[in-house]
Amino acid sequence: MAYDKMQEAFRGCTARPLLIDEPMSRHTSFKIGGPADLMAMPSDEGELCALLKRAKENSIPVTLVGNGSNLLVRDKGIRGLVIKLGNMLNTIEVDANSITFGSGVSLALASKKAAELGLTGMEFAVGIPGSIGGAVYMNAGAYDGEMSNVVTAVRVVDGDGNVKILTKEEMCFGYRKTVLQGSGLIVTAVTVSLAEGNVTEILAKMADFSQRRTSKQPLELPSAGSMFKRPPGYFAGTLIDQTGLKGYTVGGAQISTKHAGFVVNIGGATAADVLRLIKDVQAKVKAAHGVELHPEVLIIGEA
Ligand SMILES: Cc1cc2nc3c(=O)[nH]c(=O)nc-3n(C[C@H](O)[C@H](O)[C@H](O)COP(=O)(O)OP(=O)(O)OC[C@H]3O[C@@H](n4cnc5c(N)ncnc54)[C@H](O)[C@@H]3O)c2cc1C
Repeated sequence: MAYDKMQEAFRGCTARPLLIDEPMSRHTSFKIGGPADLMAMPSDEGELCALLKRAKENSIPVTLVGNGSNLLVRDKGIRGLVIKLGNMLNTIEVDANSITFGSGVSLALASKKAAELGLTGMEFAVGIPGSIGGAVYMNAGAYDGEMSNVVTAVRVVDGDGNVKILTKEEMCFGYRKTVLQGSGLIVTAVTVSLAEGNVTEILAKMADFSQRRTSKQPLELPSAGSMFKRPPGYFAGTLIDQTGLKGYTVGGAQISTKHAGFVVNIGGATAADVLRLIKDVQAKVKAAHGVELHPEVLIIGEA
C-alpha cells in the first residue's frame, strides 16, 4: 500500500503524527535495521487500541516493538505499521507489595522503583535494557531471577482492541517463552508481587549485578544481548569461545572479544552481516561440538 493511503488510514488517531520511512536502526540497541513504513508511539491504551482497529480495518500489518533490545531487524525494514511502546505506556501504581507498571516502563526504572519501596524480587532486572512489556513477552531473566518469578497478572489487548487480564498460569512461562509469543496479544500493563526486604541489601544486590555486567559484557558496543539461547547442558558463549570464534568478524558484525555469547556492531554492521555471522557460528559450533545453537534474538522484517 502507498504511504499516503497508509497514512490516510490513521487520520484522526491521536497517536499521530506517524513517522514515515523511519530507520529501525534508531530504535534497536543493535543500531541495525532498515526503514519501517510507518511508526507510531501511542501514549496510552486508548490510543493503542485506536491504531490497532484502523490497521485491522485497512489490512495494514502491525509489528510491535518495546525498547528494541532483543531485535535484529532485516535491512529491507518492516512493511506496514510499527508500534513502539518503549517509554510510552509508563504509569506506575503501587498497592502494598504489588506494583502495576505500564508496559513501556524500562526494567531499570521498575527495579529501582521496587528498591525505593523496600520490595525485593526485581533486582535481577536492573541491567536488562528492555521495557517491562518486552521482558514479560520474552520471560527475560538474569542471575537469580526471571519475570515469571514475580509476575502475577498481565493486561493485554488483542487486534480488535479487546482487553483481557492473563494470570501467571495463563502466561505459560518457560525458558524465554510465554503464551504471548506469536499470539498477536499486546501487553499494556504488568503486575508484579514482591516481598518486603531491606533497602540497603536490595541496593547492594543491584550494584553487584550491575558491576558483574559491566565487567563481563561488551556494553560499550551496540548489541542485542546474548545472541543464542542456552543449549541444554551448555553455555553458548563457552562453546563459541572453545571453537576459537572470539573476534570472528563478518563486515561490521563481530563475536565480542569480551564475551563470546554477544554479537556486537563494531561500526556500520548490516543485518546481512549478522545473519551471515550467525550461520557461520552455528555451522562451526555444530562441527566442533555437535551442538545446535538457536538465536535468542528475534529476527524480524522483510527478507
Ligand atoms: C546489553 C544487553 C543485555 C541484555 N541482557 C539480558 C539478560 O540478562 N536477560 C534477558 O532475558 N535479556 C537480556 N537482553 C535482551 C533484552 O533486553 C530482553 O529480551 C528484553 O526483555 C527485551 O525487551 P524490549 O522491550 O527491548 O523488547 P523488544 O526487543 O522491543 O521486543 C522483543 C519482543 O517482545 C515483543 N514485545 C515488546 N513489547 C511488547 C508488548 N508490550 N506487548 C507484547 N509484545 C511485546 C516484541 O514484539 C518482540 O517480539 C539484553 C539485551 C542487551 C542489548
